[in-house]
Amino acid sequence: MIGLISATAAGTSARDRLAAAWPDRTRVYEGPVADAVRAAFAECEQLVCFLATGAVVRLVAPLLDGKTSDPGVVCVDEAGRFAVSLVGGHGGGANELARAVGEVLGAEPVVTTATDAVRLPGLDTLGLPVEGNVAAVSRALLDGEAVALRAEVTWPLPPLPVAGDGAYTIRVTDRLVEPGEREVVLRPPTLVAGVGASRGAPAEEVLGLVEGALRDAGLSGASLAALATVDAKADEPGIVAAARRLGVPLVTYTAGELARVEVPNPSDAPLAAVGTPSVAEAAALLGGGELLVPKRKSAARPAMATCAVVRRPARGRLAVVGLGPGARDLLTPRAGAELRRASVLVGLDQYVDQIRDLLRPGTRVLESGLGAEEERARTAVAEARRGHAVALIGSGDAGVYAMASPALAEASDDIDVVGVPGVTAALAAGAVLGAPLGHDHVSISLSDLHTPWEVIERRVRAAAEADIVVTFYNPRSRGRDWQLPKALSILAGHREPATPVGVVRNASRADESSRLTTLAALDPATVDMMTVVTVGNTATREIAGRMVTPRGYRWQEEPR
Ligand code: SAH
Repeated sequence: MIGLISATAAGTSARDRLAAAWPDRTRVYEGPVADAVRAAFAECEQLVCFLATGAVVRLVAPLLDGKTSDPGVVCVDEAGRFAVSLVGGHGGGANELARAVGEVLGAEPVVTTATDAVRLPGLDTLGLPVEGNVAAVSRALLDGEAVALRAEVTWPLPPLPVAGDGAYTIRVTDRLVEPGEREVVLRPPTLVAGVGASRGAPAEEVLGLVEGALRDAGLSGASLAALATVDAKADEPGIVAAARRLGVPLVTYTAGELARVEVPNPSDAPLAAVGTPSVAEAAALLGGGELLVPKRKSAARPAMATCAVVRRPARGRLAVVGLGPGARDLLTPRAGAELRRASVLVGLDQYVDQIRDLLRPGTRVLESGLGAEEERARTAVAEARRGHAVALIGSGDAGVYAMASPALAEASDDIDVVGVPGVTAALAAGAVLGAPLGHDHVSISLSDLHTPWEVIERRVRAAAEADIVVTFYNPRSRGRDWQLPKALSILAGHREPATPVGVVRNASRADESSRLTTLAALDPATVDMMTVVTVGNTATREIAGRMVTPRGYRWQEEPR
């Protein structure tokens, strides 16, 4: 029983909403608040107090006995914005309660116990149908008890803090199984049922055929992702109704597409009727996968429907995530969400260090040292192909002189790819310097490890002739020291010696430094691989110690 206590009108209205949502589990305590809290504390397993945390702390403090016996106490603030797990987060179930109250009232759950601070994903928030004892397994996860993962099919799940063995289990399967007492079964949408039907086939016949095929093969309808058929049957009422009743989309293919699929049981009837030797098997198999139920006909006489069931290969997910230049608050919320979403993280060790605290427990981290770019890209794609949710990280923007292109060059269309943009070094440096990128600008990498120097030089020359602001990435390293002076001398052929040049080292990181100098005065020895160098165009000025490139060239002639 959950005791509800409120004092104000706003609190009482929220209390009533909760009581109406959970009529059998809640009891309202009226009367003076102090008495109400004491009575509820003695009589209930849990309390929800629509009161200030301070007031509740004072009231329950003398009543506390121990974390195994105390009730769980949740406080909801006057505005109904937060549901705070105050006492008994684990033993008293207050963390779960705060989440549940938050859902009913639209309040944000506030939970401060250690395992929750890392934001475990809720088992019922994974986007998959769930069966079994969600409450018990969630509690075990939160309490750090051993929970084993038994994945019979791979699916791009977020990381779960699971062990090889444990009293509790999370089972990922499309098979028809009864969850055990300490088990949760997740149902990934792995199955596709291909269906064919003669004109006028009754919905019951199609539905019964599909359900029977799944049942006989020991498969769960909760894992059915779609019905599939030929275009000509897209409007066949029996098929359309069956898909609706099963709660899955109906996907259709042209007869030509289906005719190209190799199937075990082709026949002449559909060839004559719709132009493909197989509808059910071909439609189910078109996306690839394993044929679990070969074509079968319904039991009706004459049979008007056919069906076949395929288990699709898992479709992995590759997120290419830019972490920004270094500062935590320049990492976008979307990047943070993708880092928590991935069960496999691939990246350069120093970048992994930058965000390790954001990862959920259970994340598999595959880090490697400098120079292993191609291998990192291959690893990330291979993990996604195995059906995992992978995040491939890079500093700044992951698409700028970074991992996105080698990864996507490697990837085929059997995985989903999402990109998360990041603040690239040129932008971070620009903000430090002032407004150097106020007009057309270009980024040029001076690394000739993978690009011939002639190509780089041609691009620098073009930028010089076109009077474009240039930011140099990878400007200078111990073994590559002549490229920067050479590039600057090309620009100097078209720009005044006094042209402003900004040098920014470790933009947005703890040891950030920057200098504003000129083309003539820049000392290349102050530049290293942690640095970008931005060279202004012929209109760029130093104003009040800041580098400013005017938006339009006419500005030059206007009086200042
Ligand atoms: N993907 C990265 C760039 C990778 S190339 C981005 O979008 O920023 C690596 C080069 O980027 C470094 O040699 C340096 O020139 C530059 N760089 C990256 N981060 C930087 C930072 N925080 N401050 C200054 N330069 C940086």
